Amino acid sequence: MKFKHQLAIFNALTRLLLILVLWLMLPVLVEKVVYNHINKSLLEKKQKFIEHLDKEEINDFIVRNDTSETYASFSTLHSEFLVLSRVPTANVVDKTLFINEPRIIEEERNDYRILQYYFKYENENYLLEIGNSLSEINDLTFIIRLFITIVLTIIIVITFLVDTFYIEYLLKPFYKIIDTKIRHINEPEAFDHTPVKSHSKDFQELDFVLNQMMDRISESFKKEKQFIANVSHELLTPIALLKSKFENLLQNASLEDSVVDKIVSSLSTLDLLKKIIANLLLISKIENNQYEANETINFDEIISNLIVDLQDRIEDKGLSFDKKIEHHFSFIGNKTLMHILFYNLIVNAIKYNKKSGKIEIKDGFLQGNYFLSISDSGIGMNEKQQVNVFKRFARVHFEQEGQGLGLAIVESIVQFHHIVIELTSEINVGSTFVLLFPNGQKPN
Ligand code: ADP
Repeated sequence: MKFKHQLAIFNALTRLLLILVLWLMLPVLVEKVVYNHINKSLLEKKQKFIEHLDKEEINDFIVRNDTSETYASFSTLHSEFLVLSRVPTANVVDKTLFINEPRIIEEERNDYRILQYYFKYENENYLLEIGNSLSEINDLTFIIRLFITIVLTIIIVITFLVDTFYIEYLLKPFYKIIDTKIRHINEPEAFDHTPVKSHSKDFQELDFVLNQMMDRISESFKKEKQFIANVSHELLTPIALLKSKFENLLQNASLEDSVVDKIVSSLSTLDLLKKIIANLLLISKIENNQYEANETINFDEIISNLIVDLQDRIEDKGLSFDKKIEHHFSFIGNKTLMHILFYNLIVNAIKYNKKSGKIEIKDGFLQGNYFLSISDSGIGMNEKQQVNVFKRFARVHFEQEGQGLGLAIVESIVQFHHIVIELTSEINVGSTFVLLFPNGQKPN
């Protein structure tokens, strides 16, 4: 998961948690505030009642001293009531209590907050109960809860969106650095040093450090390539010298056969060494962009010529060759290098094929990109072997002659031309190398 999504989810979750706690605490808070308010108003009512105790109606009840022993009054909607009753015991005198209790008034049952006050008046014990209905408060709590839920949900959605956009905006330079500076860079020389615009100091720093690091890598790359080129070049002269000395020695007619054999073997080793060095030099030159890429390439022509050149080897193995190039794809590149590329792939398709096997070369379009594929019905490679074959000196099948540089050269040529190469292969079934050509992209 991307950092920006993780951050947005984390923000949303913490906010959700906060809101949940608030939501759970809300009824408690509301009740506390409301009960405080009711208690206060009940106490005020009690105070008024006690102050007017000697007034007519209550006095009536007290003086009447009737059998019901109770004086009651309530509001029309039963939201409030007041009950005064005589009680026999006097053990709770002058004590005020608050309780929540259901009461039935005129056959209507309601929850009430009730103030209970025990007192003594003219030598009689009384209990005063003043109640306030709780149904309105319950309704109110529900409405507040609903309202808060809606408001909080809207807040969560809005802040989540704002957060996501803001994080996206903040991280834009970061993704730009990854895209333009790291992901699409195959070699340090292609690195773009233009500073990425950012308001954040951290990304400016990251960009700066990356530029510095790439400079150092680029310098090392250059040195390494130069070193390989120099060494290869320097080795070619002594090899040529040794070769001509051995060839001169061979002119000597008095040499014994065994010595002649040894010289011939040394000459072939020198030839192999020369080939390897020439190939390394070729890779080094391609990687150093020492080739021009301004020729129109005719794939059909190159491949047809190669088939003619390799006809002996094809016939030796009894291979059938199928070439189906049906499109005239115009490609600008280096003719010599493209010739080497197809030569290496076709020679491998012959070398690693079975007797009386098949080679097929065809072209077409894959998702709008022109492709050329070279398939053989040869010994194939497993997945692990396929991973390494493009590396220098990597060899899988040692029964055939080779130096393990053919596919390394192929790889440097495709990179030079911005061609993508894909390999699929199966043991004892065969291998297919697909070349995917860039659309309207110019080579180096
Ligand atoms: P080599 O000179 O050994 O042929 P390459 O670089 O051309 O060197 O190939 C590297 C290795 O990849 C080869 O040694 C061979 O084992 C394997 N290979 C290349 N092409 C094929 C193919 N068409 N079928 C099977 N194996 C192949």
